[in-house]
Amino acid sequence: MAIITQAPRGTEDVLPAEAVNWQIIEGVMRSEAALHGFGEVRTPVFEHTELFQRGVGDTTDIVQKEMYTFLDKGGRSVTLRPEGTAGAARAMLEHGVYNDGLPVRFYYLTSCYRYEKAQKGRLREFHQFGAELYGSADPLADAEVILLGSSIFERFGLSDVRLEINSIGCPECRAKYLEALRDYFGAHRDELCETCLDRLERNPMRILDCKSPVCSAIAAGAPKMLDYLCDGCREHFESVKQALDAAGVAYTVNPSIVRGLDYYTRTVFEFLAPIDGRELAVCAGGRYDGLIEELGGQSMPALGFGLGMERLLLLLRQQSVELPGEDPCEIFIASLGQPAKLAAFRLCDTLWKSGVRASCDVNGRGLKAQMKYADKLGAKYSLVLGDDELAAGKAELKNMKTGEKQKISLGEKFLDDYLTAVTAQEDMSF
Ligand code: ATP
Ligand code: MG
Repeated sequence: MAIITQAPRGTEDVLPAEAVNWQIIEGVMRSEAALHGFGEVRTPVFEHTELFQRGVGDTTDIVQKEMYTFLDKGGRSVTLRPEGTAGAARAMLEHGVYNDGLPVRFYYLTSCYRYEKAQKGRLREFHQFGAELYGSADPLADAEVILLGSSIFERFGLSDVRLEINSIGCPECRAKYLEALRDYFGAHRDELCETCLDRLERNPMRILDCKSPVCSAIAAGAPKMLDYLCDGCREHFESVKQALDAAGVAYTVNPSIVRGLDYYTRTVFEFLAPIDGRELAVCAGGRYDGLIEELGGQSMPALGFGLGMERLLLLLRQQSVELPGEDPCEIFIASLGQPAKLAAFRLCDTLWKSGVRASCDVNGRGLKAQMKYADKLGAKYSLVLGDDELAAGKAELKNMKTGEKQKISLGEKFLDDYLTAVTAQEDMSF
């Protein structure tokens, strides 16, 4: 029976106390994205399987091992999105958004699904904030997208996040590099893991991304793409670095970053941070100049990144970053007896309508139990209504922290009295 009382492996519920943090970080993403001119795109949670086979790439771990793919009742193969780029690019093409002027800037906040070995920071349902820029091959666009990523980490005051960049060239210069890789890894054929043997044939660059210790030790000595870049790709990379320097963005060049998706070209980057003792990518992306054409559109340069929301939250918690959440309750109105209970409810409604977070008893509890609950809610103020207060049309507003009391009207002037009293007390606390 555990099956219906436990969420599926690799998924997480978000309860109200934690949802507040999600709302805050999502708010930061939305406002940073808007500031940089990125508009939100929302795409379906499932797409035709072919979209990801093409858009993510047949030789990737995602497509080979991690996708949630099934036949719908009409016998069509559909897949829960494992990442946000393919769907966003499809939507951009399908609706001809490129006709509205280039570049097009999209952002998304979505759930993603990958059948992974679930562990801390690695889930089967996780969430990404992503940014996409279509229609510019200019190195400045690379710098702009990277800057959006780093500005988000800055907004949270996260200092432990490092930016690493690399260039993986274009299909032309990469062909020679792949040959060199095949030679190099071919000589280590006996030591490679089974998956990497397959990668050796299909896409040897994938071996550089293998997480097995033996393969990564071998990969450390492999030829570097940076030594194989053609003139155009080398110039592009130099210009990206110049633009980052000009913007004061710190980075290191890491020649072993290759990224997990097939469609990357030229610039690739990762924002890394120590999470739970391991170095993990919180945000990763790059340029994918071949993707739009691969999806059936005209040839159009593009780039973007995906930022893992759960990993960001782990990092924020680990670094004890205070997220300025709102208290769930500002005032609790306790009551004794049915007429007072109704009056409390009516006053709450008045407060709600003017944007004050208020709460009252809906359990018919005694006064002591009500005040205990008010404490649990973290209420800053309380008001107790009984027959006497109703008869007098006045009650005492109590500051739960200082104990200070002040009589306020329960009639027409209630809201004015309340707001005046609260404002006066807040002013005094400074
Ligand atoms: P990794 O190398 O850690 O498997 P990846 O290369 O598969 O990452 P991307 O496909 O580039 O990751 O996804 C972008 C970001 O999404 C990652 O940097 C990470 O923050 C987050 N992410 C990816 N997979 C997961 C997952 N299974 N659970 C939680 N977050 C994830
Ligand atoms: Mg992965």
